Amino acid sequence: NPVRVLICGGGNAAHVMAGLAATRQGVEVRVLTIFADEADKWTEAMKLRGFNVIIKGHRGQPDIDLQANPFTVSKYPEEVVPGCDLVVFAVPAYGHAQYLNAMKPFLKPGSLLVALPGSSGFEFEVNDVLKDVAKSISVMTFDTLPWAARLKEYGHSVEVLGIKKVIHGALHGNCETVFPHDRNAVETLQYLVGEVPVLDVSGHILGITLLSPNAYVHPTMMYAEWANWDGQPVSRAPLLYHGVTDSSIKEMTQVHEEVEGLAKRIMELRPNVDLSKVKGLFPYILEIYEDHILDKSNLKTAFLSNTAYEGLRFPMVATEDGKLSPDFNNRYLSEDIPYGLVVIRGIAEIVGVDTPHIDKVLLWSQEKLGKEFLIDGHIAGKHVPESRSPQAYGMTTLDEILWM
Ligand code: NAD
Repeated sequence: NPVRVLICGGGNAAHVMAGLAATRQGVEVRVLTIFADEADKWTEAMKLRGFNVIIKGHRGQPDIDLQANPFTVSKYPEEVVPGCDLVVFAVPAYGHAQYLNAMKPFLKPGSLLVALPGSSGFEFEVNDVLKDVAKSISVMTFDTLPWAARLKEYGHSVEVLGIKKVIHGALHGNCETVFPHDRNAVETLQYLVGEVPVLDVSGHILGITLLSPNAYVHPTMMYAEWANWDGQPVSRAPLLYHGVTDSSIKEMTQVHEEVEGLAKRIMELRPNVDLSKVKGLFPYILEIYEDHILDKSNLKTAFLSNTAYEGLRFPMVATEDGKLSPDFNNRYLSEDIPYGLVVIRGIAEIVGVDTPHIDKVLLWSQEKLGKEFLIDGHIAGKHVPESRSPQAYGMTTLDEILWM
């Protein structure tokens, strides 16, 4: 029997995941995209011209053009969800709940939901939306997307600009009944994405909620760049990672140390819970981008010399006088706060760990977003229900957070 794989989403990541999976033998690929008319557009384009994933060559290597076998794309969950063994979420975090709600009546008991990437609190949202159904399914979540990817022609071709060396994940649940043959769940997913990145799956699923780097790197970079901004529009967007300074590196390190401290405290309280994936930011960045970092002396040089970050600048909006102002509604705050830093801060509150640096970045970020999550030292602001913090789901104890 083929493994039946459902890919959720209709953007860059969904195109790559579906295309790669559909080049493998013994795999039936389906895509669910519920947004606008994407399913029709994709189906039409694929019918006319087929579907290709183009892996861009590096250092003079030629591109590799992979042709996918035909697959079904639908906007109707009842057409594509029934019978699927593995469901991959390849959409931004704000789309997860819509897909979970849409597929809930059709999920096969024992099936595996994979979030690629998850963003903090994915497992809380699964539990909240699926309720009793959640007990019969497994959840695997990853810290980041395996690829830097860009659509070339909608529904027909997508380019993979870079591939990470390793990505980190964790699995909750027991899905052996669905993967009883020669490949277990992780091996099946590895087979679908190919040899790289290596899918390093271990530890407690909360480890990925804490590890997800966008949660603290993006808001802290925004804070470090713009908290003391004089409000005057600028003529050019500042460089993002290639513009780090001693001060922004210090801010990032302080925030990250609080996340590490939180993971350590939880492991002290619950010695059987493995959150050892949450390690220092420098070794983490080195591991993921090993081949791209030219100067591995320290965290700052690792950012400044990472070729994968070339050309990336802060998100900006145009002003009337033809200049640029920082875009505070960009996903670096609008997603990485509610599906990132607020989640981590909410966990810290329940565990009883102080996070003064996270609080500083969060208070500034929420003000820029016009939202209230942290208020008087608690995750109790009026926009908490829009976040994936434990408080949004009424969780008050560490055991609830750990799904114990
Ligand atoms: P994307 O921007 O391509 O996603 C857009 C898709 O999301 C749309 O095509 C649609 O299917 C869906 N969508 C948009 N608005 C929606 C709405 N209102 N309701 C429901 N669905 C809606 O995203 P991506 O590039 O595929 O990235 C997926 C995730 O991976 C994101 O979290 C992103 O931050 C992360 N990521 C992407 C890259 C990359 O290179 N593309 C790299 C690292 C991480």
